[in-house]
Amino acid sequence: MNKKHQVLKEVVYGQLFQYKSGIAIAMTCSIGYVLMTLLVPWPMKFIFDYVLLGNIKDVDFYFSDNQYIVLIVLSLSVIFIALMRGLFSYYQSCFAAKLGSKIVFNLRCVLFSHFQSLPLSFHQNSQTGEILTKLTTDTAALKDIFSDSLIMIFTQVLLITGMFIVMFIVNWKLSIIILLTFPIIITVLYVMYSRLRKTVREQRRQEGKVAARTNEVLSAIPLVQAYAREDYESERFNKVNKLTMEQGINAARLEALTTRTAEIVTAFGTALVILVGSLYALDGSMSPGDVLVFVSYVRNIYKPIRSIAKLTTKFSHGMVSIERISEILETEPGIVDSDHAINAPKFYGELKFSSVSFQYDSSNNKALKNISFTIFPGQKVALVGPSGAGKSTIAKLILRLIEPHSGSVSIDNLDIKTFTRDSLREQIAVVLQNPVLFNTSIADNIGYGRLNASKEQIKSAARQANADSFISTFPDGYKTQVGERGSKLSGGQQQRISLARALIKEPAILLMDEATSALDAISERAIHKAIEKMQRNKTILMITHNMHLVEKFDHILVIEKGEVVEQGKHNQLMNLRGCYYDLYMAQQ
Ligand code: ADP
Repeated sequence: MNKKHQVLKEVVYGQLFQYKSGIAIAMTCSIGYVLMTLLVPWPMKFIFDYVLLGNIKDVDFYFSDNQYIVLIVLSLSVIFIALMRGLFSYYQSCFAAKLGSKIVFNLRCVLFSHFQSLPLSFHQNSQTGEILTKLTTDTAALKDIFSDSLIMIFTQVLLITGMFIVMFIVNWKLSIIILLTFPIIITVLYVMYSRLRKTVREQRRQEGKVAARTNEVLSAIPLVQAYAREDYESERFNKVNKLTMEQGINAARLEALTTRTAEIVTAFGTALVILVGSLYALDGSMSPGDVLVFVSYVRNIYKPIRSIAKLTTKFSHGMVSIERISEILETEPGIVDSDHAINAPKFYGELKFSSVSFQYDSSNNKALKNISFTIFPGQKVALVGPSGAGKSTIAKLILRLIEPHSGSVSIDNLDIKTFTRDSLREQIAVVLQNPVLFNTSIADNIGYGRLNASKEQIKSAARQANADSFISTFPDGYKTQVGERGSKLSGGQQQRISLARALIKEPAILLMDEATSALDAISERAIHKAIEKMQRNKTILMITHNMHLVEKFDHILVIEKGEVVEQGKHNQLMNLRGCYYDLYMAQQ
């Protein structure tokens, strides 16, 4: 990880530090495992050199000099070493897995809350499928790096070092010959690793695309079916899918090639040791048992390198994941609370825009140009104007999803910048054009607006939203499951539930952004009736295209090209014979 991945580094290092005792245990187990592995060929060496070749008198086996007893003890030691080795390896794996899982758990928590804090522009520009991949696959790949791979590499490096130390003590000349084969294998692996990494990165990008495509099509399935575009979508999906497959095959081929190459180099090394070691044994500078130890070590010394070769794939996955996760973590959260932000007091609901201008980053024109208006507590205000006039931008500014480039938005004469976002949004409720419902019961969906709401509060909100009447007709009443995104309810019913969800908050300000424009006339009227009968304890700001419904509003703001061009009551505006008049007449 380079300097670029600072945020991720902090997260991961923080975690490694937090679990330092677990890491220490895993490493102690690794050391035990390495020591046992180093001991593996030694019973065989002693049996070979001193029992089989009859040189038992050359060495002092403290426990006995009877060759049968020595043979039995040495044979039993093979079992003992295997047992101990297994035990160390088991605990090492357990601790590594635990550490990895905890890292994934925490990283997912960090990522999930970070995703939620990112600006809307980020979410509008990214695809849900990609985000899902980042949250699931990429964090899992990181687990491989920080638990399995790191501890495995630590063990393998320790093993290689230990073997070399022992081999140097037994015969340094042969050890140097083995050492000379190392640069070859490392160079080969390095080249392979670089190629593999590139391919894997491409493969992951493609996988993200497959997920994104699937998600997009599945979420638009009614449209796809209505237009009979299944074949067309399948074809588009297959194109992305095919590319992923090709990249997958490529990656698998390269991975296999890397491993096989390492095996062939191993065979060369082993052959070399057998040849040179046997020559030394023939001239008496090594015992046959020493050659056995060497052969066993050499076969095992290449193994760690081969394991590291295999790990390169995991590492490639992991490195790519690090880049992708870092990219997210380094995206700045949208709007953050200022250091001196205070909790908003209870609002009366006076809303004031003072010379507010705003321009979207990706746009060349100002969405709002120096607009000013005041809405008084308890007023029902309509915001009308052609599409693209800037009405939704006004709503976003009130919620502080975006901030004015100049001017200020204030509630009860306090700039909303001075409040924490949570305390501001707690007192403002929003109903959007497309109601967003979760796949749970009606009661849970309404209760989302006020966690821990009582049944009575839920019912009362539903009554205010004119929703109680239809909910009561369902066999399961408030426990009725609404289906994915509310699919088991009609558009009008969904919208009344989302209005109930807004009302249960008892907000000081209620924003409705085209909340009724997608509804049939009856549902639309039901919602407007609900708004008309609402008490005057909340300011209501409604963005709408339906000019007939705004007649009864206390105040109407007409927005055009980012400016307030007219404002007043219906009759006043009609008399002006201006923009409002044209909009109204166009609907006659
Ligand atoms: P309205 O709600 O009146 O239809 P909006 O407030 O949504 O209008 O948009 C005002 C202007 O800002 C439009 O020209 C629109 O194209 C532009 N706009 C809205 N949202 C974005 C965005 N996320 N990025 C860039 N331009 C945007």
